[in-house]
Amino acid sequence: MNVSDSERISGFLESKGYKSAQSISEAALVVFNTCGIKQTAENRAYSFIHNLRKHHNDVKIILTGCIAHRSDVQKLLKNKVDLFFSISDMFLFENWIIENCLEIGNWKLEIPAQNNLPKENIAYLSIAPKHNNKYQAFVPIMTGCDNFCAYCVVPHARGREVSRPAEEILAEVQDLVKKGYKHITLLGQNVNSYKSTADFPQLLKKIDRIPGKFWVSFVSSHPKDFSDELIGIIARCKKVCEWIHLPVQAGNDAILQKMNRRYTQAHYLKLLGKIRQAMKKHKPRIPYSLSSDIIVGFPGETRKQFADSAKIMEKARFDMVFFGQFSPRPGTAAWQMKDDVAQKEKARREKFLNEILKKTTLANNKKYVGKIMEVLVEKEKDGVYFGKTRTMKNVKILSAKKDLIGKIIKVKITKVNIWNLEGEII
Ligand code: SF4
Repeated sequence: MNVSDSERISGFLESKGYKSAQSISEAALVVFNTCGIKQTAENRAYSFIHNLRKHHNDVKIILTGCIAHRSDVQKLLKNKVDLFFSISDMFLFENWIIENCLEIGNWKLEIPAQNNLPKENIAYLSIAPKHNNKYQAFVPIMTGCDNFCAYCVVPHARGREVSRPAEEILAEVQDLVKKGYKHITLLGQNVNSYKSTADFPQLLKKIDRIPGKFWVSFVSSHPKDFSDELIGIIARCKKVCEWIHLPVQAGNDAILQKMNRRYTQAHYLKLLGKIRQAMKKHKPRIPYSLSSDIIVGFPGETRKQFADSAKIMEKARFDMVFFGQFSPRPGTAAWQMKDDVAQKEKARREKFLNEILKKTTLANNKKYVGKIMEVLVEKEKDGVYFGKTRTMKNVKILSAKKDLIGKIIKVKITKVNIWNLEGEII
């Protein structure tokens, strides 16, 4: 989501006449779009900002993203940062640009007569983004979250859930497809609680009907809102990728309750069963993949409770899991809890789960051998191409052909490893 927000910030600045600098040291204005999910991410931003200010006293530094609203952060950086704004308050940034832009460098910028952005936290999503490439694009469909999981900073940083109008999303996707984009990723903190003139399953169906050759995927979903209707649509719609990212976070019911996740281990496994059944019925010959997020060392998580996370991983047979060692975030419910699992133990638990993941991923990958898969080519290095399948598996492709980047090609999978597949173009 932050990558996508940054694309909108870039798009906004370019629309005001700004140009990207070659490097951070050449920039007259630097916008830090921060992540507050872990202390390490926060620390990285502090160190960047301290160094930048130390060596470039006249640079303008702006801070936005998930830590910008916090008073402790503003106090810490008050002599180094020129403006703090929450991403939903883009109008503050716009006003600041209007008031300060002539002081930056010697550029002659056109100053609009009045503020264009309405003061609502969804308005910034209407800004035309500057995409990082010409084949894969993020399209935010909503922002914010109402769920207040005990460990999570998102509802505090981004505010409550707000959905973009379906018509605006459809127009953006149509435009991207016309421009040749091949993979559209719909973004939201909780996409399946999207609600506008359509709900999320209806939105997916409408996107699937847009003419053209493209893929559509989405992140992230909440297991409590993952409906049977949505499962049916994913399984039936041809353009919807066979990849479902469904964060479970923990395998133990007491920990899930403490995390305020509002589902049980049994509910989660039942959902996976329904997904497997639907995929088998509607896309029987196409592999699908399931990925998840798991937090280890949540306050009070005993070794026995942790063993349930290992159990759910064995049962779910995930293709990918993004692990997080619990890190207390200011303002969240878990901030008040005792962070009582030692750092070393958190690392041990993560490593333990990662070993299970390696086994299930490799076993899942073996199903690809001999199959012909569509692959979107993303890069090339020393004559070897790298791309992704519709199931988000990394593929290494040997081909003497030129200019494959950004194209969907057919690849016969000849070899599989834990973290990637290998194949030949056909
Ligand atoms: Fe955070 Fe996701 Fe929970 Fe919302 S649903 S509070 S974004 S973890």
